[in-house]
Amino acid sequence: QAKVAGKNCYRFYNRTMEQAVARRMRLEQDLHGAWGRGELGLVYQPVYDLADRRLVGAEALLRWRHPEHGDVAPTVFVDVAEQRGLIEEIGGEVLRQAIQDAAQWLPLSPGAPPFVSVNVSPWQLRNSTLTELVAGALKTSTLPPEFLHLELTETAVIGDEPRARGVLASLRELGVRVWLDDFGTGFSGLSHLRRMAVDGVKIDRSFIADVLDDPDDLALATAIIAMAHSLGMTVVAEGVEQEGQYALLRERGCDLAQGFWLGHPVAAAEFAALLRRQGNIGP
Ligand code: C2E
Ligand code: MG
Ligand code: MG
Ligand code: MG
Repeated sequence: QAKVAGKNCYRFYNRTMEQAVARRMRLEQDLHGAWGRGELGLVYQPVYDLADRRLVGAEALLRWRHPEHGDVAPTVFVDVAEQRGLIEEIGGEVLRQAIQDAAQWLPLSPGAPPFVSVNVSPWQLRNSTLTELVAGALKTSTLPPEFLHLELTETAVIGDEPRARGVLASLRELGVRVWLDDFGTGFSGLSHLRRMAVDGVKIDRSFIADVLDDPDDLALATAIIAMAHSLGMTVVAEGVEQEGQYALLRERGCDLAQGFWLGHPVAAAEFAALLRRQGNIGP
């Protein structure tokens, strides 16, 4: 009996494997030209100042609406883009679009314009002339460089440290800000963080999820905040889903926060509406 079940199981497993491979190949093909066909686009998740809950910026997040499969998760298609050598092209479009949208927001919040934060793949850091790409995109825009933030993951900068340090330095010379994303997951120590001249860190949401119930996660988040502050860096908490998490992080001195409790990612026009509401500026 067990043997038969095992055999069926195996057959089923094989079939799902085949389906997964076929689907993946299909996605690889379809990702070519997806931006040009208007299937790829950006949404913006609001980022707030923890102290006064002011809207201070947005993270640009890529979305793919596949004509047949519907929404494909960025964790899936960004990986496909990296493997198929499409990430530089798509990454360039993302950068230009985010800069263009953020330039539109400048007059909506005259006292304190919001920043736009763009995710950069480790592949873009390794293979391409990222600094030239960023400089070129900024040149054709009215957005001052300090309102463009770039998010790099720890693993991206750990791979080839001397080179990564050089790229980071040249990016910051342009005046853009650089963040370490998903911080804590690859655990960089204090000395490593000090050598990486970045403007701040984003605490990965896996540490925020249980911050109210798990003393270890709270200790880790608190340590990251203290460590970053001692280096003059800013700290963003990702994945704030409850008011209690927000209050606790504020009490611990975390600077900025984003998460579903504060706001889901929205279209550029909707983000502009949020800004208008905050600034009491008419439409
Ligand atoms: P990330 O940069 O860490 O982005 C944060 C992710 O957390 C986003 O998922 C966001 O929707 C989600 N999130 C925000 N608040 C909450 C919350 O309160 N709870 C939960 N459970 N999740 C929350 P998303 O949009 O699916 O993106 C996943 C990842 O895909 C991103 O992680 C980033 O690594 C990558 N990605 C997205 N857009 C781009 C892009 O334009 N370029 C590159 N290279 N990677 C991108
Ligand atoms: Mg990010
Ligand atoms: Mg992140
Ligand atoms: Mg993440």
